[in-house]
Amino acid sequence: MRIANLGGRAVVITEAGAIDVERASDGRFGPDPQDLVEAWAEFSAWAGDALSEFQERIAFEAELLSAPVPRPRQVFAIGLNYAEHAAEAGYPPDSMPVTFTKFPSSIVGADTVVALPEGNVDWEVELVVVIGREGYKLDRESAWDHVAGLTIGQDISERITQMQGSAPQFSLGKSFPGFGPTGPWLVTPDEFANKDDLAIACSLSGEGMQSSRTSMMLYDVPELLVRLSAVCRLLPGDIIFSGTPSGIGNRRIPQRFIGPDDVLVSEIEGIGTLTTRFTAGD
Ligand code: ZN
Repeated sequence: MRIANLGGRAVVITEAGAIDVERASDGRFGPDPQDLVEAWAEFSAWAGDALSEFQERIAFEAELLSAPVPRPRQVFAIGLNYAEHAAEAGYPPDSMPVTFTKFPSSIVGADTVVALPEGNVDWEVELVVVIGREGYKLDRESAWDHVAGLTIGQDISERITQMQGSAPQFSLGKSFPGFGPTGPWLVTPDEFANKDDLAIACSLSGEGMQSSRTSMMLYDVPELLVRLSAVCRLLPGDIIFSGTPSGIGNRRIPQRFIGPDDVLVSEIEGIGTLTTRFTAGD
């Protein structure tokens, strides 16, 4: 099942069009996509048969889709989770995943335009995990049961702010407005032939920049949930940016950063594409 945010309303995406969840459920579930993912256990138990009986479909354009999880209470982000990226960034493999946040005001949807702040703005394509069931001190075996779905994310980063001062400012440098594109929709784990091994890539204005597989993560999705939930209670509607493969602009020779008029296209197998456009900031 694919869940999206169509103009602020929760919809299920089918080949024939979108199904409005509030209408299909006669108001049992409201229109707010955030409320829907926070009621994930109830929704997923209801959705199967009930949705197949509902006939009304809405035609839509992908540009109208907003962030599938628009107001997460917690946004976790993981750094240095692919060995080749950790090496290019100059760090040895770590015994603990590097964890920071992207403040929720940075979260936007697919097909957005981001005004560039001053500095060196860089790309990081990432698999984003959406939590559907509360969890604390999870074990590996049951970790996937707490996942509502997967989507594509870009952990856009301004490297000067990120590295300002004596210790890195990961969270601040990655939270400018529009720096957290996610989408185009949330895909439930049962849709993937192998949810632990998905091709992941991004290109900037047509030039391939990153290409890897999610099976190359040093800490896979279950392990991330174990490590994060050892400290924080994971809540329905939380999202986790799971780290980026090698090929970021900061470590290219010569360096390459995002300019006005660049188009960033991020892809993950079994999910689709996420397109982010840029303009000069003021
Ligand atoms: Zn990242």
